[in-house]
Amino acid sequence: MPATPAWPPRSAPRLFVSQPLSAGAQVMLDGPQAHYLTRVMRAAPGDAVVLCDDLTGEWAARVVHTGKRSVELLAAMCLRQREQVPDFWLCPALLKKDRFDLVLEKATELGVRAIRPALTRRCVADKLNPERARAIVVEAAEQCARTALPELAAPANLDALLRGWPADRTLFFADEQGGAPAASAFAAHRGPVALLTGPEGGFDDAERAAIRACPQAVAISLGPRILRGETAALAGIATWMAVAGDWAAN
Ligand code: SAH
Repeated sequence: MPATPAWPPRSAPRLFVSQPLSAGAQVMLDGPQAHYLTRVMRAAPGDAVVLCDDLTGEWAARVVHTGKRSVELLAAMCLRQREQVPDFWLCPALLKKDRFDLVLEKATELGVRAIRPALTRRCVADKLNPERARAIVVEAAEQCARTALPELAAPANLDALLRGWPADRTLFFADEQGGAPAASAFAAHRGPVALLTGPEGGFDDAERAAIRACPQAVAISLGPRILRGETAALAGIATWMAVAGDWAAN
């Protein structure tokens, strides 16, 4: 384990930026990021900020100048390379706004590689604001010190999702009507995986049959209680991370 560097301090603000970073790179921030640094964090010239570009990794930077609506920074040194994210996709049926916001935030914290929302017949919600969704994911990644953002796909119809399903990716299907116990199914299928969870009203019979007909599908149970969609998604991720993801000692 490398010694914890004294600089930048652990309290330094973390931000994802849209430009590639390198030693000596000048970074100009405006809009909400500049507002956050100057008004919320009261950043001043010389202060440390940790920047991530979702490409090279995490960098220590210094504030060079703060203007009325912009902040200029200079990237100094690379602190960590962009991490390898476990190859786990979450395919949650779209849920009502607040509940889906929770899924976006917590799935990011728990460490998924991609979030690919599914539209199913019993979905109450049918739209996801891409900018808002991305802002939630980025904020969660900043908060939990990820150096890689989860990929965020636009919602796709379940049929389309199943039709284009990659041959090498196991599709764990959270079926409240029963399946293999989640932890043992997760331990038995290594390699690229995904977890599909249903909406408020569950999957209908035709959908359940279509999912089960997919050769890569493995029906799993998350216990004897009927969980809400968001609980099923988050409990499923945590279980997989502990058994086969990067919480496991393998
Ligand atoms: N209203 C439905 C339940 C929907 S629960 C009903 O009463 O039948 C929402 C989703 O969470 C389900 O579609 C399923 O994907 C998942 N889920 C909930 N409880 C589960 C369990 N015990 N095992 C596996 N999946 C579960």
